[in-house]
Formats: sequence, C-alpha cells, structure tokens
Amino acid sequence: MRAALAAATEDALVYDLDGIAARYDALTEELPGVDVRFAMKACPVEEVLARLAGRGAGFDAASPGEIARALATGVPAHRVHYGNTVKSDRDIARAYRLGVRDFATDSVEDVTALAGHAPGARVFCRLATSGEGALWGLSRKFGCSADDAVRGLETARDAGLVPAGLSVHVGSQQMTAEAWRQAFAALAEVLTALHGRGIVPDHVNLGGGLPALGYADRRGERLDPPLDKIFAVLREGMERLASLSPRPLDFVVEPGRHLVADHGAVRAHVSRLTSRRRPDGEREHWLYLSCGKFNGLYEMDEVRYPLVFPSRPNAAGADLVPAVVAGPTCDSDDAYAHEHRRVRVPGAVASGDPVWVLSAGAYAASYMTEGFNGFAPLPRVCVGGDGPDVRVRRVAEDDWPRIAALEAEAYASASLSEGVAALRSRGRASPATCFVLETGDRVVGYALALPYPRLRYPDLTRPEERAHDSRNLHLHDLVIARDLRGRGLGGRLLRHLTAVAGRSSYERISLVAVGGTAGFWAGRGYRPEPGAELHGAYGEGAVYMSRPVRHDRSGGPEEGF
Ligand SMILES: *Cc1c(COP(=O)(O)O)cnc(C)c1O
Repeated sequence: MRAALAAATEDALVYDLDGIAARYDALTEELPGVDVRFAMKACPVEEVLARLAGRGAGFDAASPGEIARALATGVPAHRVHYGNTVKSDRDIARAYRLGVRDFATDSVEDVTALAGHAPGARVFCRLATSGEGALWGLSRKFGCSADDAVRGLETARDAGLVPAGLSVHVGSQQMTAEAWRQAFAALAEVLTALHGRGIVPDHVNLGGGLPALGYADRRGERLDPPLDKIFAVLREGMERLASLSPRPLDFVVEPGRHLVADHGAVRAHVSRLTSRRRPDGEREHWLYLSCGKFNGLYEMDEVRYPLVFPSRPNAAGADLVPAVVAGPTCDSDDAYAHEHRRVRVPGAVASGDPVWVLSAGAYAASYMTEGFNGFAPLPRVCVGGDGPDVRVRRVAEDDWPRIAALEAEAYASASLSEGVAALRSRGRASPATCFVLETGDRVVGYALALPYPRLRYPDLTRPEERAHDSRNLHLHDLVIARDLRGRGLGGRLLRHLTAVAGRSSYERISLVAVGGTAGFWAGRGYRPEPGAELHGAYGEGAVYMSRPVRHDRSGGPEEGF
C-alpha cells in the first residue's frame, strides 16, 4: 500500500486487496460459521468485490444495479440478498428476475409488494435499533418495532412468502459492545414471540456496524473501538439465540466499513497552506487539499483520517502549524470539523506536495460526486491480489493446446466443448481480438472474439469457414482457469478486449451467455437482444446479449470500460 501511494504521481483512491482479504479472513475466524455478505455500498469497486467473492463472501445489495454488479463477480444468486427495505415494485421484480430470493423488509406495505412481485421469496424483517454508540446511527429511516415485525412476518407467511428471519443494524462505526447486547435482547424477544405464533425463522442477520480501526474522531482523538469485546458479545449473543430456537439458526453479518476502511487510502496533494486573520482578529491557518468531502472524503465532517506528508517526513515540533484542513470546492462544508482542535501539519508544505489520507477506503468510491466544481472523481488503483505479473497478450500458435484444455475444463460437464480445431479456426478469423492471460509463464485464461454479423454467432459444431466483415465484435468465449476464478481476472481480460474494440471501428460487442451467466454479463452492461434465436447447441437458458462500444481513443489498454 505504501509503495503504491509512493509510486502514485496523480491523485487516486488506492485499495490494498491483500489487506481487505486478510481482514475478511480475520472476521471469519472471529465469527466461525457466520455468512459474510459484504455491504457493497461501502466499496463498489470491481476488484474488491471480486476478491471478496473469491474468498467466499456474498453481498448485501441495495438495488437491482448493485445486484447485477454482485452477480458479475460470479457469485451465485443465493449469496446475494436485497438488504434495502426501500424498493419499488419494479425494483423487486427486477431483483427477482435476477435470481435473488432473500429480501429485507420493515413494513406490511413492502411485504405485500414482495408477495406480488417476488412470489415465494424469503423475507427477513429488520428491527429498529437506537443507533446509540454509533458515529452514524441508522435508526429512524429503517427498522420496525417488535409488534410490527411479528405482524410483518405473519403477513408474509399468509401471503405465501417464507418468513425466513430477522435483521438489525446497530449503526455504522458502532463503538460499543452494549449496542449489540441490546440488539440481541430485542432479537430474542421477537424470536420468542414468533415461535409462539408458529413462525420459526431459520436465520438472523446481524447487519453492519463493525468499526474501522484507523479513524480519529471530530476532535482528533484516536478512536479505539473495543473490537475484541464486540466479537465476544456477538458470539455469546448468537449462542443464546440459537439455544432459544427449536430449529437450527444460521447467522449472517453485513460488514461494509470494517472490511475496507483501513485498507484504502486517498493519494491527494496540497492545494495551498494559507494564513488569514479572521474578523475576530485571530490568525488561522488553512490547509486546502485536492480532495475533500465531494471527491473521496465524504465522511470528513464526522471523522478525521490520519494524514501523511511524505515530502516532509521529519516535520515535528515547531515545524508544525495547527490548521483547518479542507477540500478544494466552493462549499464551506468541505472541511474537517475544526471547532475543537486543529490538525497539526508541516508549515513548509508547498502546493503540489503529495498527501496520503489513510483509512479512507470506506464509502469513498460511492460518495464521489461526478464533478462538483469541476473536480473529477478519483481514479481507483488496486494493489495486491493477482500480483504484478498478470499480463494479457495475443494468442500464439503454441497456446492452442492449453486453450483447448482450459475450454474442456470449463465446458465438458455442460457438453458445450467444441475442441481445438474449432477454437483455433475462430482465433485465426481475427488474431487482433483474441487474447490469453498469463501469470508467470502459465496461460490461465483466454478470450476469443471475432467479427460476426449482428444476431449471428458461431456454430459450435463446426469450424469457421470464413472471416466476416462486421462492425459487431462477437465475444465467442472467455475462460479463466478454475483455481483462479473470483479474482477479477475475467474482468481484466474483458477490459482489455473492450479497450481494443474501443480503439477499432467496432460498434457493438455481442456474446451468448451460457449456463446461467447472464447476470454476470448484465453487470457489465450487456443486455439481452430478443431478436436472436439460439439453436440448441448452446444449451438450456442461453441468452444472446450485446452492448455498445464506447469509443475513447485516449484510453490505455486497461481503460475504456
Ligand atoms: C450500509 C449497510 C451495511 C454496512 O454498514 P457498515 O456500517 O458499513 O458496516 C450493512 N447492512 C445494511 C442493510 C446497510 O444498509
């Protein structure tokens, strides 16, 4: 992470994928047997989602758009739940079509809508919490009383839905174990009431709220959340609820902030350090950074992030001046809370000096304006994960046996394998749009694309007889070695292909989604084209899909997506 920050010459949002994976592993060790559904809004970054999915996480999604992005990682739909209690009829129907069956609710109105648009779905009801002890209580907008929860799940049962569980959220960056103790007390009460009415939920969702460890509060005091105690209370509470239940009870957590906050940082730069006299006569330093509330540091009014000035590594004592730290926009909220204490910063910083804002990985990518005052969203850089030695290159002649082996591994069980001769014929038809992905000297994936008239596609039972001339590029096949799936490598190949298409004269990319992968492609902007009739060889449920190509001639090989 430090190396990536030091190497950055421009502002960026930097994520350490290995750090995020390690935090995930630590969490699953603390809470054995508990399913983790990452709250996507905390970091909707493709590589992060892919890494967590590869580790075994599922996703807490809040809209059809998030559901599609979750499915694009390759996780099965049963590892994604619709955790937002706020949804329209249309949202519910779209989520259901995408395969999601678990829905949060907190009102009878929503339950009725679920019965209409997601028949047979599993419903879990969110109980209100006080939000006390959290930096961001989420109490008023969400959750219902114990009575309403019982009524809601009874309504669900009577409407043919499955009254599957209960959920809570104790508020984000919850600093006390007591909040979870109270949540368990409320859960126990409602579970008992439900049991008395013949409803026996099979799971309890303990929500998010687990804290980040690296923040300071508004006054600049280091926050030191009692994480060990929180985990102990969680284990104890789960045991107690399980002992109350006449059938096995599973548990789910939906961490957002806890997994990503401390493993993301903003590389910003100094706009200027100024000194001005206020109307009341006091002299005040202001440190304006290139990033603030609207481009990377949305939560800066509630917390302070550690700042590092790598160009002034030894500044101390008299070299430091107390300053109000603020972002670059013309909005006076774009600043750290400073009524209590200023941040001590090197007095010698100059415009353009780099600044590292640490523990800024949560809610940075999502709460980023599109260009308020002309400040562009920060580009994202992910380090770790697939390592620096992954590269994409064109197919060479001696790659074909390996490609055929990868293909057979991927499709043999679905009887879709077409064999080396047919594969090679597709590659020969368009060498500029066929690639392999290599780590070290091992080919671990490939993508074969070739021009094909719109709504037409290769016949799996025979080789290409001729090359087509078309503005439609057909992505015939994309495969990643089984042991390396879930690390974003498929996305890497696809970005490369998309960028190549964007620099050529292609107008659309099409493909046939086979074996239930339509959700993956929908998350990448592909939409079904009803005009295409697929013949049987592509298997049950195959869907012809396409998306337009965006022409961005400035893009490098990894962009254009
Ligand atoms: C935002 C959210 C979370 C994640 O909260 P954190 O405090 O970031 O852990 C979890 N569940 C739901 C339903 C949410 O809306």
